[in-house]
Amino acid sequence: MSAVTRAQAPNAPQKKELPPEAYRQAVDQADLAISITDPKANILFANAAFAHVTGYTPDEIVGQNESLLSNHTTPPELYQSMWRELSAQRAWTGKVLNARKGGELYLAELHISPVVDSKGNTTHFLGMHRDITEMHRLESLVLNQKHLIESVVDSAPMAFALLDQSGRIVLDNQEYKKLVSDLRVREPAHTLLDSLMPQWQETLAKRPEKCNFVSRESRIDRPAGRPRWLSVSASVIEMHSDGADSYFSTGNQSGLLLVISDITSLREEQEKARAAVLQAVLADEERTAAIREGLSAAIFRLEEPMNVMASAVSVLQRRDPASAGVLQQALAASREHMEMLRQVIPQSPQEIAVRINLNEILRDVLEICTPRLLSAGVMVDWQPAATLPPIIGRPLQLRMLFKALVDNAIEAMNIKGWKRRELSLTSAVERDCIVIAVMDTGPGIPHEWRHKAFEPFFTAKNGSGRHIGTGLSRAQQVVADHGGIIDLAESPSGGCAAIVEFRLDGDPI
Ligand code: FAD
Repeated sequence: MSAVTRAQAPNAPQKKELPPEAYRQAVDQADLAISITDPKANILFANAAFAHVTGYTPDEIVGQNESLLSNHTTPPELYQSMWRELSAQRAWTGKVLNARKGGELYLAELHISPVVDSKGNTTHFLGMHRDITEMHRLESLVLNQKHLIESVVDSAPMAFALLDQSGRIVLDNQEYKKLVSDLRVREPAHTLLDSLMPQWQETLAKRPEKCNFVSRESRIDRPAGRPRWLSVSASVIEMHSDGADSYFSTGNQSGLLLVISDITSLREEQEKARAAVLQAVLADEERTAAIREGLSAAIFRLEEPMNVMASAVSVLQRRDPASAGVLQQALAASREHMEMLRQVIPQSPQEIAVRINLNEILRDVLEICTPRLLSAGVMVDWQPAATLPPIIGRPLQLRMLFKALVDNAIEAMNIKGWKRRELSLTSAVERDCIVIAVMDTGPGIPHEWRHKAFEPFFTAKNGSGRHIGTGLSRAQQVVADHGGIIDLAESPSGGCAAIVEFRLDGDPI
């Protein structure tokens, strides 16, 4: 090194040597119990804090072995691992149970470092320990309280899930875990919030106070299972962040506590009563619709001969006015009777459009059609979307629509000797639409009939021995009234698939 680099700059502060005594004073006055031992743990030095913690004065303790502090309840394996580390000249940290001079026990967090000389021999050990009895007591208190809260929460008959502001589940209970396995959805809390508060993630992140609600009901549909009805309450709670960055700031964030109760049995009872009423209402409406259709068809068919009569009148008027007059009178009388008939055609009931869950409508239809499905030996594969956003619609008309489609499917498969009889019913959300598919494993509809099938009074019953039902024109009307579309296609089995699409923002007429 050159003299220039070694020389100190004229104004640089002078580097002072630390006097050896300063080391001793620093160690002696440190707030941590410090001891220095020989390689056999015999104490050579102990500072004032050591005396304060252990109760032994330096005079009493120097010359004693550190094992004097042992309460002899610390497991021997712990000392064995301690000495294994120290013998390998590695530092060791752990907790031991010590006894003070007066016999009082305290929990010590102990750190031991080997002091190694230039030849690589361990000459001393430096021991530092502090009394962590109070900290341990507080930790145990928190832990006990946590266990207590967990046991109370776990034994509660309702499911709990606590979400942090990012939507992560940070706490749940046994009932919630049961929901996870029963419902077979990725995260029931998210599924429920999606159905009850579609913008919940954004709201929870930006305006958590808007996320409180009480006892809102959600229906979860499961493939091949009965639907579950859950009542959900959500309350926003303040959560303290445990990150180091929040040590000096409040760092609080909002959490969302969901309390979920299963109200399926209650709802099933109500549903049973409702289904019975529905069945009666639907049967009544079907009868009325049949009368309406029968009368309309009769009038439609009578129009034809009457038109022929009208042409005959105009031809006869020149050649045989007398006969033309008689025929004219007969025609006028017939028209009058036709008009009377038209007036007695029963009108369809006026229904108010309400918020509707289509899964619920489909489930009702399956319930109502169960006796027919059973007697026709049809297996049902019900694959609903777990939750569906509501649409605005007329419940009775929609039930009639899907019942007509299911009836057609049953009829299509109910052919003597027809083996595969499966009805598949699916609901899904695709883009901005709810798509419902009613698929059968019957012989299917010939391509050329797919549009004709929607014409009023069209029936294939006599054409090919295959009856496709008479409700399709009415079904198309209901779908159109709800701003949707209906189409017939080939199902994967070669049978018929009726696909109905309703726009989520659709507005019924
Ligand atoms: P011991 O007979 O001392 O030994 C227990 C086990 O440790 C034996 O199975 C033996 O295999 C192993 N062992 C003991 N001495 C050695 C050694 N020199 N080399 C290798 N293995 C060995 N203990 C406390 O309980 N409280 C303390 O606060 C504490 N502070 C310590 C501070 C320092 C700096 C050091 C070096 C040790 C400290 N010890 C402390 C450990 C203490 O020396 C004893 O090992 C321990 O207390 C167990 O004592 P014992 O009489 O039950 O068993």
